Amino acid sequence: MAQNRKKIVVFGSIVHDLISYTSRFPRPGESIRGNSFHQGAGGKGANQAVAAALLGANVAMIGKVGDDIFADFNIASMQKAGVETSAVEKVAGSTTGTATITVSEAGGENSIVVTLGANLEMSPVTAEAAETVIASFRSAGILLCQAEIPDAATKKAFEIGKKRGVTTFLNPAPGDPHLDQSMLAFVDIICVNENEAKFITGIAAPNPAQAEKAARAMLERGPMVAIVTLGPQGCLLAERSDGSSEIVVSLLPAESVTAVDTTGAGDCFCGSFVALLAAGIPLKEAARRAVMIASLSVMRKGTQSSYSSRAELTSSGFADLVVGI
Ligand code: AMP
Repeated sequence: MAQNRKKIVVFGSIVHDLISYTSRFPRPGESIRGNSFHQGAGGKGANQAVAAALLGANVAMIGKVGDDIFADFNIASMQKAGVETSAVEKVAGSTTGTATITVSEAGGENSIVVTLGANLEMSPVTAEAAETVIASFRSAGILLCQAEIPDAATKKAFEIGKKRGVTTFLNPAPGDPHLDQSMLAFVDIICVNENEAKFITGIAAPNPAQAEKAARAMLERGPMVAIVTLGPQGCLLAERSDGSSEIVVSLLPAESVTAVDTTGAGDCFCGSFVALLAAGIPLKEAARRAVMIASLSVMRKGTQSSYSSRAELTSSGFADLVVGI
């Protein structure tokens, strides 16, 4: 199977997470003591690349970091998972994207400042420079993008991807009401959560019935496949048949699990789903398995550190989820 596996290019963000756990949020002007601190590699692009690579997919990351102390940590984290990082550029004079997160342990609530730094240097020129990487995946590749870098860069990457005949996948996260939706014309598969569904379609999708409405609305804008993830309810998959107006809708429910930390669950879903597609697993089965793999990730703390590898899934009784990858 491995030699038939499609390659995956992630063109997206890299963000270093700095998390302080406190008893409460500081008031403006106040300094309080944190109880504990955790740092981790993150960013939606890097998270999805790592989730896919851990399952055994062949993944190359295209992104930018600064020339600071966080750069190597984030590159190393991707490499450890098996992601190819030769197209990750260190930008002189820039900072690695950071998310400064305060978690108030009283209610488990977050307050987050994301400073995108070098991610904002991703541009249409970066996408053009990346054409060689994308071109090397010509016959059978998948291009995966999110919405944590400038829209113009993502749109250009998708244009190149379509020109080169790769399957294009957009996870327009984090939700942005100003997303340049003209890029949807170059997108084959779109995957949103309930908030992002609202930003893209104007339809909130807290339940399967609303998710179906949002998915159908997204299919009118270009993609052949629309997925709405529904947290503990799993996901809804809507697929437009080639050359016909028929739309096939499937609901893939999640198992009930004890959720400890849902940070990065959407990224785990996207990366796992694309890894399964790249291995030739059919859409609906890929979505079913990605729901389960993402649900397992919410049972562990952290983002990339909560994702399971192929070996871990195999040895913990979930071999069926990775069969064929
Ligand atoms: P979300 O981005 O919240 O829609 O979640 C993405 C995926 O993560 C879902 O489709 C589920 O597979 C999984 N997930 C998220 N939250 C939970 C939860 N509380 N229980 C089980 N699975 C979850």
